[in-house]
Amino acid sequence: MVVASVCTDFAIMSGPEITHHNEEFFLSARILSGNAIRDQIYAELAGEIASLAAAGIKPGLAAVLVGDNPASKVYVNSKIAACGKLGLASFHITPPATITTEELLGIIKDLNARDDVDGILVQLPLPPQIDAKKVLEAVDPAKDVDGFHPMNVGHLVAGRPALVACTPAGVMEILRRSNIPIEGANAVVLGRSDIVGKPQALLLLHAHACVTIAHSKTKDLKDVVRRADIVVAAIGRPAMVTPDFIRPGATVIDVGINRINDAKQAESLFANFPERLAEFQKKGTAIVGDVHPDVVSVAGAFTPVPGGVGPLTIAMLMSNTVKAARMRRGARAPAAAASRS
Ligand code: NDP
Repeated sequence: MVVASVCTDFAIMSGPEITHHNEEFFLSARILSGNAIRDQIYAELAGEIASLAAAGIKPGLAAVLVGDNPASKVYVNSKIAACGKLGLASFHITPPATITTEELLGIIKDLNARDDVDGILVQLPLPPQIDAKKVLEAVDPAKDVDGFHPMNVGHLVAGRPALVACTPAGVMEILRRSNIPIEGANAVVLGRSDIVGKPQALLLLHAHACVTIAHSKTKDLKDVVRRADIVVAAIGRPAMVTPDFIRPGATVIDVGINRINDAKQAESLFANFPERLAEFQKKGTAIVGDVHPDVVSVAGAFTPVPGGVGPLTIAMLMSNTVKAARMRRGARAPAAAASRS
């Protein structure tokens, strides 16, 4: 018997991305579609941007892309495209890979001073000669739409309104808008990076989850993760979180974005997903998360990769840019319509 209880009657759930043909394989998880939630957020932002426009304000985002890292180019282009789609101003600054820390600090100083720039993002990674911490700390905290500045991190720790790191804020949007109970839930955040794991744990804590942060030194990792009602995986290890990590019915949020090129690995990961395997065979490459695709047979709810957390990262960057424009302009700016992170 095949059980395919992927819900299709609610806007933010979707089924069609995941197909199965193995008669032994069970699809039990509700699929949480990041694309649908992103579209909801964009619809809300369109209204806020229109109110700002009526007050003569056009929020602007400056994206600084150092050098020509192809993956970074793709990310920055998607962010610029999202600005265009929403009617935000965008400024694409592309210094060469040979730039010095001092020169980059000069660019940040100019952007800090510009009134038409509400948000500044410095695309990571930066070349090795650059003191990345110094550069990120030079961004005006009021324009720090990535939420990486120590002042914004401090505000997050203290539970005060701030510009919050986009990916963890996006995860909270997925959980809230999918009506996943957070208060009192056991949440395990796998990974403790400054940009995902740590802010994620704080956001869940502020939402009254009982939070455990696990990392590469955690003992009995499987047992720790198996206690979770909510698992957020952000480790950068393709498909490491296998079904035996997951308590049946748990909500699993997969932050990981990993490119695989190995045919044997693809055959093993996509054994229950022939269409994904066929796509890999056509392209010779695929993107997978930190969670094994088979977890869909154990979890209660599950974010796919691609199409889960990824779209929310850009949506929250747009949301932060609008928020920064409002915060910077104070009383002149109309209030937000929605209660996003
Ligand atoms: P980092 O490499 O900065 O951090 C990885 C974390 O995972 C570390 O805390 C590390 O532990 C932990 N870890 C690594 N291996 C293991 C293991 N075997 N067991 C337990 N813990 C482990 O990664 P990021 O936080 O920057 O990114 C994580 C993933 O999320 C990546 O796949 C990245 O591509 C993706 N990502 C996706 C985004 C999106 O928009 N969807 C945005 C940002 C990131 P320790 O600290 O002990 O070394």
